[in-house]
Amino acid sequence: MSTEKNKLTTSWGAPVGDNQNSITAGPRGPVLIQDVHLLEKLAHFNRERVPERVVHAKGAGAHGYFEVTNDLSAYTKANFLSEVGKRTPMFIRFSTVAGELGSADTVRDPRGFAVKFYTEEGNYDLVGNNTPVFFIRDAIKFPDFIHTQKRHPQTHLKNPNAVWDFWSLSPESLHQVTILMSDRGIPATLRHMHGFGSHTFKWVNAEGQGVWVKYHFKTEQGVQNLAPEVAAQIAGVNADYHTEDLFNAIENGDYPAWKLCVQIMPLEDANTYRFDPFDVTKVWSQKDYPLIEVGRMVLDRNPENYFAEVEQATFSPGTLVPGIDVSPDKMLQGRLFAYHDAHRYRVGANHQDLPINRARNAVNNYQRDGQMRHDNNGGGSVYYEPNSYGGPTETPENKQAAYEVSGLADSVAYDHNDHFTQAGDLYRLLSEDERARLVQTIVGAMQPVEKDEIKLRQIGHFYKADPEYGQRIAEGLGLSVPE
Ligand code: NDP
Repeated sequence: MSTEKNKLTTSWGAPVGDNQNSITAGPRGPVLIQDVHLLEKLAHFNRERVPERVVHAKGAGAHGYFEVTNDLSAYTKANFLSEVGKRTPMFIRFSTVAGELGSADTVRDPRGFAVKFYTEEGNYDLVGNNTPVFFIRDAIKFPDFIHTQKRHPQTHLKNPNAVWDFWSLSPESLHQVTILMSDRGIPATLRHMHGFGSHTFKWVNAEGQGVWVKYHFKTEQGVQNLAPEVAAQIAGVNADYHTEDLFNAIENGDYPAWKLCVQIMPLEDANTYRFDPFDVTKVWSQKDYPLIEVGRMVLDRNPENYFAEVEQATFSPGTLVPGIDVSPDKMLQGRLFAYHDAHRYRVGANHQDLPINRARNAVNNYQRDGQMRHDNNGGGSVYYEPNSYGGPTETPENKQAAYEVSGLADSVAYDHNDHFTQAGDLYRLLSEDERARLVQTIVGAMQPVEKDEIKLRQIGHFYKADPEYGQRIAEGLGLSVPE
């Protein structure tokens, strides 16, 4: 006898009489359309996938907590950072960028590092990468850039020609290209890498005073990387190597942790700093703006269900809480639209109501209806604002901080175009062994490029970063540095 709990039912809750044999006309069939249980099973199965993310499709996630270790309430009124010892539950999703859902983990690619803090004043998402900078600095270039990382429209193969053509014509990418081609381009595990908010954000304190901030998650496991030959071998044997490592570490109680630090810049410095502090292809030197500890993130619980928690997790740099605002960074501004828009398309208009995405505090607003609205949809409560029925109202103290803007509305290029100093600083910071591996990796990656014109243009950028860097790559490719 089946108990109530283990009685198999249809999706509408009726008991299923036979889950092994379709209803047929006679023992040999044909199958009858009146087998509604069969129809529902096949139809639901066809719809098991939501569209995979265009970028960051392959990912692994974990739950954990964030604990404040340093009181920075002088700089931000963000409630979850308000006192030492305060713990906030969080969820993280790590990912590669270019590969599809089933692609190998151990490829050379930046890693997404997306954190959702379930604070008492709403969710705060920090949606960064394992690199402090990015390839481009204006969102208008993003679809073109990603096309170069994806597959050729005819061959359906990856296309080094497009990759280096785009990079060589977008020299702002040089810094990120140098990081990507360095040893850190293939982390040993998701636990052995840093994370960065990458963009500049604004923190605002209870008095309404602001500062610019950049976030750094420093791995407590230490930075470790995979040699390219080892990574390639693992990719062939276990495409899910990083996913498995993270799951097993947490399952075994070996909880990975990161120290969260910030760099803080007074607002007025943005007018005079030698790099544009809102240009996401540049860092702020830590000699100018040293790291200040904020807290510690610990991952201590695996998801129970990959689809419900990791695949349906939706992050956006626009998921902000009072005390944390955006900056004018043009790439960030584009992302403020693109992320929630991707989730509305991919998961649905009510994606923020799913358990993994839902704020832990009460969500009170006048949004109603939409596909898959699964709660009581506000019931009979007042559904417009302003109203005379005591519905939720705004709290002016939680407005974003105002700031001055001036100038012509126009599409204007950045006026800071030194893409070479910081890439060169990174090259000069590497040991001789690391430099040799960097050069070898770049030469290997550029060798298949068809046009010498593209190679020479890119060699010119490496040369401007550091003459030795450019020379060595030119030599490796059997070319000479262009005039
Ligand atoms: P610092 O010497 O103060 O800082 C150097 C930074 O580089 C540290 O964050 C260090 O992180 C990191 N680093 C060390 N080795 C490598 C490596 N092989 N690959 C990537 N990063 C590495 O100098 P600056 O702040 O003036 O920066 C100099 C250069 O360092 C920059 O041009 C940039 O390329 C790179 N960098 C800078 C960061 C920043 O926020 N300022 C962040 C990361 C890199 P750690 O010791 O933890 O490994």
